[in-house]
Amino acid sequence: SPAEAGAEPGDGLQVRALSKSYGDFHAVRSLDLDVPRGRFYALLGPSGCGKTTTLRMVAGLEAPTSGSILLAGQDITRTKAYRRPVNTVFQNYALFPHLDIYENVAFGLRRRKVGDVKKKVDEMLELVELGAQARKKPAQLSGGQQQRVALARALINEPEVLLLDEPLGALDLKLRRSMQIEIKRIQTEVGLTFIHVTHDQEEAMTMADTVAVMNSGVIEQQGSPAELYENPRSTFVANFLGQSNLIEGTVKTPAADVVTVDMHGIDVSIPADRAHTDGGKGWIGIRPEKVLIGDAGAELDAPGNTIPGGVVTDVSFIGVSTQYLVRMPWGQELQVFAQNTGRTKIHSVGDQVELSWRPEYAFLLDHAQDVH
Ligand code: ATP
Repeated sequence: SPAEAGAEPGDGLQVRALSKSYGDFHAVRSLDLDVPRGRFYALLGPSGCGKTTTLRMVAGLEAPTSGSILLAGQDITRTKAYRRPVNTVFQNYALFPHLDIYENVAFGLRRRKVGDVKKKVDEMLELVELGAQARKKPAQLSGGQQQRVALARALINEPEVLLLDEPLGALDLKLRRSMQIEIKRIQTEVGLTFIHVTHDQEEAMTMADTVAVMNSGVIEQQGSPAELYENPRSTFVANFLGQSNLIEGTVKTPAADVVTVDMHGIDVSIPADRAHTDGGKGWIGIRPEKVLIGDAGAELDAPGNTIPGGVVTDVSFIGVSTQYLVRMPWGQELQVFAQNTGRTKIHSVGDQVELSWRPEYAFLLDHAQDVH
C-alpha cells in the first residue's frame, strides 16, 4: 500500500489549478498546493480569503469549479466525500451526545466493521490522554477534552490526510495555546498529514512545519514559519505575520549581490535574496525587534545602516521589552522593540536617538502593493 512505500514524490496531497467561483465571485483562484506526506501544513489567512472553501474541496464537501486534487497518487477530484481517505475535525466537535467517549471514538470502526475495536480505541484514547474518561458522555468533558475526542474519532480511521478547520476557535486563549502544543505532539506521534486552517498567525506558526499564507483566493507565499517571518515576499505577508516597519526607498543597484537602496537620502544595503523587486521604488522592511536604538551619536556597534535624526515619541515598557515609536527626519514613525536585558538604557519621550540594523535583517518589497 502507498502508506508502506515511504515518502515518494507522488505521496501526500497535490492540488492543481483548483478554483471555486460562486457566480462572478472567485473564492479560490487557480490554487496549487503540494503537501508532502506526514507534513503539518497550515493554511493561514484573514476571514473570507478562501481557506475553508479550499479545505471543503479537499474533503469532497464542495465541488471545484475547475482544477484537480490528487491524494497518494490518485485523482480524487470526483470521488465522493465518504470514499476519500480524508477526515475533518471542525470547530463544533459534532460528537454524539448520547454515546460515551469510548463509543464516540469507536463509531467509525464499527460502521466500517473493522476488527480489534477495543485495542484500537484504547490506544487512541491513550494517545489523546483520555483513557480515564472513556465512560463519560461528551457533556461531562471540558471543551479541550471534547476537541481531543473529536481528534481521536477522526484519527482512528487512519486517514491519508486529516483536515482541521479552525478546530480551536471555540476555546479560550489559554486552553487554545495548550491544545496547539498537544495537537502538534499527536501529529508527530501518528505521523499523518495534517492540514490546519486558521486566521491566527501565532497558531499557524506554533503548530505547522509549513505555512501557506492565503489572501483573496490565492497563496501569496509558503514556507517554514521562520522563512515567512524573516523573508516575506509581499507587504501582505510581512504585515500578516507580525509587525514590520515599511519605509519607502529607491533601488540604486538592482543587480548586485547586496542591493543598495536610497532611503530618504541614506544608503541602506539589503542582500539580493531578500530583495523582491526589479528596481525602481520599493518598500524597505525591517521588523521592530531587529532595530537597535541608541543615543544620538552613540555609533551603535552594529555593522549596519545607521540612521540618525530620530526623536522618541512614545515609550511602552512591557517587561520583556520596551516598545518605542521613533519619529524619523522624513516624518515617519518607526517601531522599535528593545529587549530588556537589564543593561539596556530605557529612553524617554523627546530623546534624540539614532537607529541601526544589520543589512541581513532587512527585506525589500515591490512598491506596487498596498501597505496595510
Ligand atoms: P473564514 O475564516 O471566515 O471562514 P475563509 O477564508 O475560510 O474565511 P471561505 O469560507 O472559504 O473563507 O469563503 C471565501 C469566500 O467565499 C467568502 O467571501 C465567502 O463569503 C464566499 N462564499 C463561501 N461560500 C459561499 C457560497 N456558498 N455562496 C457564495 N459565496 C460563498
